[in-house]
Amino acid sequence: MRYIRPLSMEDAVGQLAGSPGTAAILAGGSDLLVRMKGGFIEPDLIVDIKAIDGLGEIRDTAEGFSIGAAVSCALMGESAALNREWPGVVEAAKLIGSKQVQGRCTIVGNLCNASPAADSVPALVAAGARALIVGPGGRRTVAVEAVPTGPGKTSLAKGEIIEAILLDRRAPRSGDAYLRFIPRTEMDIAVVSAGVNLTLDEQGVVKSARVALGAVAPTVLLVEEAAEALIGRKLDEAALERLAKVCSGACRPIDDKRGTVEFRRKVAGVLARRAATTAYARAGGK
Ligand SMILES: Cc1cc2nc3c(=O)[nH]c(=O)nc-3n(C[C@H](O)[C@H](O)[C@H](O)COP(=O)(O)OP(=O)(O)OC[C@H]3O[C@@H](n4cnc5c(N)ncnc54)[C@H](O)[C@@H]3O)c2cc1C
Repeated sequence: MRYIRPLSMEDAVGQLAGSPGTAAILAGGSDLLVRMKGGFIEPDLIVDIKAIDGLGEIRDTAEGFSIGAAVSCALMGESAALNREWPGVVEAAKLIGSKQVQGRCTIVGNLCNASPAADSVPALVAAGARALIVGPGGRRTVAVEAVPTGPGKTSLAKGEIIEAILLDRRAPRSGDAYLRFIPRTEMDIAVVSAGVNLTLDEQGVVKSARVALGAVAPTVLLVEEAAEALIGRKLDEAALERLAKVCSGACRPIDDKRGTVEFRRKVAGVLARRAATTAYARAGGK
């Protein structure tokens, strides 16, 4: 096994693209190292991206935020500007594992591990986040929901690395929120989760919305009908009822020891409703 710590993106991409055997990217390692230690994978090449220039930074520009692929979830929690504009994304990142895990783990690792229950992904999908990908063919940007294609699988080609997650600058009167259900108070995998992102007009009517559900299908679901249940209304009881009903109906969950299909469907509706209420209040809705 070869371990390298390149200093530039070009070098990292070149090494990954040219590697004849299996290769893995190492960010925080909180998924990768666990899987290696468990004997599930043994990559021939490990490319540690943490020393690459700029990857450990959160950039706040006129267009929005660029969160480098080596930025830990703990660092996201310390960014006042990110907390102010995207509190739902930050609260999802800060639910991952424990303080110790958050000191290492990244949202890009969470996305690329491609677990259906990954906590940051529904919040990122609801936020309309994009992934900036660098590969042998150059740079491209895709919606985050296009990255995971199934449990443990991504659409990334050989040699491709996600350089950053991009979040737009917020319009006035916007808010987002993320909630998950776990049977304990922390350090558990989501049984169901929901991310909601809203923008209101001056009267407090929902102008635009995105609703995403986690752990209820092989990949995170972006539920357009749920957004439609909110758009054009204040967040009244009828809108919340319709949102919950649509979300419960959109689920395609599995039955397992952590939750039945029926339970997951019900909780998806409840969480979407509660996340929408929080997002609405954060957007200044009354
Ligand atoms: C004790 C513990 C508790 C946990 N609790 C939670 C939890 O509550 N919620 C949750 O969602 N997860 C949880 N996890 C899983 C894990 O911490 C997260 O998925 C984390 O965000 C992974 O980030 P990382 O930087 O550590 O990824 P890594 O382990 O470094 O990488 C994960 C995968 O992504 C790939 N990858 C990493 N960076 C890139 C990149 N830039 N471009 C392309 N591919 C890349 C890697 O090759 C690997 O396949 C937990 C893990 C542990 C050990």
